[in-house]
Amino acid sequence: MSAPNKSYDPVEVEALKPEEIERMRDEALAAFAAAGDLDALHEAKIAHTGPTSPLALANREIGALPPHAKAEAGKRVGQARGAVNKSLAARQAELEAERDARVLVEEAVDVTLPYDRTPSGARHPLTTLSERIEDIFVAMGYEVAEGPEVETEWLNFDALNIAADHPARGEHDTFFVKGAEGTGGEGGESGSGVVLRTHTSPVQVRSMLDREPPLYVICPGRVYRTDDLDATHTPVFHQVELLAVDEGLTMADLKGTLDHMVRALFGGEGMKTRLRPNFFPFTEPSAEMDMVCYVCRGESVGNPDRPCRTCSSEGWIELGGCGMVNPKVLTACGVDPEKYSGFAFGFGIERMLMFRHNVEDMRDMVEGDVRFTRPFGMEI
Ligand SMILES: [Zn+2]
Repeated sequence: MSAPNKSYDPVEVEALKPEEIERMRDEALAAFAAAGDLDALHEAKIAHTGPTSPLALANREIGALPPHAKAEAGKRVGQARGAVNKSLAARQAELEAERDARVLVEEAVDVTLPYDRTPSGARHPLTTLSERIEDIFVAMGYEVAEGPEVETEWLNFDALNIAADHPARGEHDTFFVKGAEGTGGEGGESGSGVVLRTHTSPVQVRSMLDREPPLYVICPGRVYRTDDLDATHTPVFHQVELLAVDEGLTMADLKGTLDHMVRALFGGEGMKTRLRPNFFPFTEPSAEMDMVCYVCRGESVGNPDRPCRTCSSEGWIELGGCGMVNPKVLTACGVDPEKYSGFAFGFGIERMLMFRHNVEDMRDMVEGDVRFTRPFGMEI
């Protein structure tokens, strides 16, 4: 900055000439008028009223003027700055009003529009688990087979080597369908001859009767027993049964299929099954199948430091029954047991859901409370 100088005339100083001050003022007013929104106006404000704006720089020149010239120059610059600030404030108010009006329109809420508050549901975990099991077998070339839930006694029992006097028939707490008026049936085992199926095995019989081997089918479905509904029983539950009939099938094929299923369902290394001898009329030999506990993988056995709640530290979880199809069943279904052999296994889906997802009460699965199904999400 220059030192005060007696001969200094503001009219002679370039930045303080009246026309220069006017030009600066007019430029500022034009810039404010041209600012289309508040952001642009802010830029113009910095350019024309900020510390490095032309008028601010001109103002600083005043200090270098001789005293007699300061008043005139100060008045000139002051009037220009006053006009600029006034114009800025006016434009600011104008743009703010415009913005507020626009926001009112753009952000208006139409309270008459329909609302989207319907909570999304979830498929029942019994359905999704059943489909997951089906997928594993469909990937191996199996077909999904279905059959009626009201079934003849012959298909539900006799064809499966469970004759009327067979003790196993008594173990199936069967719902008998009452015969129609005039047909002489009053229900009961010698009545209408029709039952609510107690297992999905009649679908296997139907499959063998319907088509020629080789046959690979998986039969998921609802079955009925006369149990009371409690924490571990329900009169309606779901089974998945599997049937393979082909030339040369052995227990080894069954074991390999079971091992693959538990690996696909529970994942990871070390998942396997074991077979324990048992008796079922429709398979010979028959076995109970267990799978290694998917939580501790058997490491809790004899290891009190690592107890496992899922398998009660036994290392194995009982899954269901299996075996080689009894030749009598093959014969009843028109399959030559000299040429073909078959294996079958089945298990309850409710039971698997209970230990797979720590469901402690079977009633939760049938009561239809959405708080039960929702946490399972939309697994497809
Ligand atoms: Zn365990």
